[in-house]
Amino acid sequence: FAPWKDADARPYIVFENVTKIFGDFTAVDDLSLNIYEREFFALLGASGCGKSTLLRMLAGFEHPTSGRILLDGQDLKGIPPYMRPVNMMFQSYALFPHMTVEANIAFGLKQDGMNRADIDTRVKQMLDLVKLSKFAKRKPHQLSGGQRQRVALARSVAKRPKVLLLDEPLGALDKKLREETQFELMDLQQDLGLTFVVVTHDQEEAMTMSDRIAVMDKGQIMQVATPAEIYEAPASRFVADFIGSVNLIEGRVMAKEGTRAEIDSAHGFKLVTTNGAPANEGETVWLSVRPEKVQITHEKPLDASFNAIEGEVWDIAYLGDMTLYNVKLDDGKIIRTSVVNDSRHVDKPFTWYDRAWISFAPDSGVTLTR
Ligand code: ATP
Repeated sequence: FAPWKDADARPYIVFENVTKIFGDFTAVDDLSLNIYEREFFALLGASGCGKSTLLRMLAGFEHPTSGRILLDGQDLKGIPPYMRPVNMMFQSYALFPHMTVEANIAFGLKQDGMNRADIDTRVKQMLDLVKLSKFAKRKPHQLSGGQRQRVALARSVAKRPKVLLLDEPLGALDKKLREETQFELMDLQQDLGLTFVVVTHDQEEAMTMSDRIAVMDKGQIMQVATPAEIYEAPASRFVADFIGSVNLIEGRVMAKEGTRAEIDSAHGFKLVTTNGAPANEGETVWLSVRPEKVQITHEKPLDASFNAIEGEVWDIAYLGDMTLYNVKLDDGKIIRTSVVNDSRHVDKPFTWYDRAWISFAPDSGVTLTR
């Protein structure tokens, strides 16, 4: 499933040069974006980056100051929220406290004038879908947070919208439940064949659930790509840093041939990369290397003429499946490495303040110019 790679595929949702200004504040800044049918799409960014505003404009609760939003080829301008084939699930769930679970789910269908028998059938289907059939007669306060979240979900898909918008859908759940629910949401989206657009500030959540992610900052999109592309090939320091943990090693390009670049790092060691395509000779760049690509050894590596430097083990964090080491270079720069805690891997463990060598292969990082 990768319609965005197909030049002939028609996008389902199109944001075309959309700007939203509140007073003198630009919340969304000349933003263009395509989302495809049946895609699980995430808008990811820190608080205030404009992601909810984007979602609210798609739902019809806000209107672009300029630019257009199209859905299935139709300009949404002037179409009120209830006329759009779009439904929104809010962070707070907004369930009616005095109504039972089934009445909550039936509410929108009744308002639409659906007949009683059809409503009953649909509500049953929805309860089944979110595995809450046994809780049909309960009121929201008699449910756990996760169950309430599923009622809200059932209610928002009951009307069979084409697009479901989810604003921080799992924000109120604890970590464990959030992880489980992420998979449930993915299953639900698959079963229903809907297009999901989810707003989140949680990069792990976006990575887990989505087909593609748009990383946003200050009302603009920094990168749109699949989770793997964003992680492996971030387009900028901002994206590299926002997604997961990363070492950004600054340096100046000394030589370049094809995609191979030699870089004098600002930290007293030479860098060689085979992913240096965007770099120009003489330019300041950053080599972005994920911690899991960095080796940590007691001994000096055999070839330490590049991508290798000695430092001091500064922090150790045991995370169960892996251990993180921060190694402090003599100039104070920290390089992070993560080592899988594999019982087959026998090595003398490191302790705080040990001298240690860190090293990485020339193909293990990407070169960033901004
Ligand atoms: P959060 O995760 O905190 O909700 P967000 O990325 O979703 O953040 P938005 O809610 O889209 O951010 O808000 C973007 C910016 O626009 C914020 O600085 C916010 O204060 C501002 N903003 C949003 N709605 C309005 C409004 N109705 N009037 C004035 N400013 C607004």
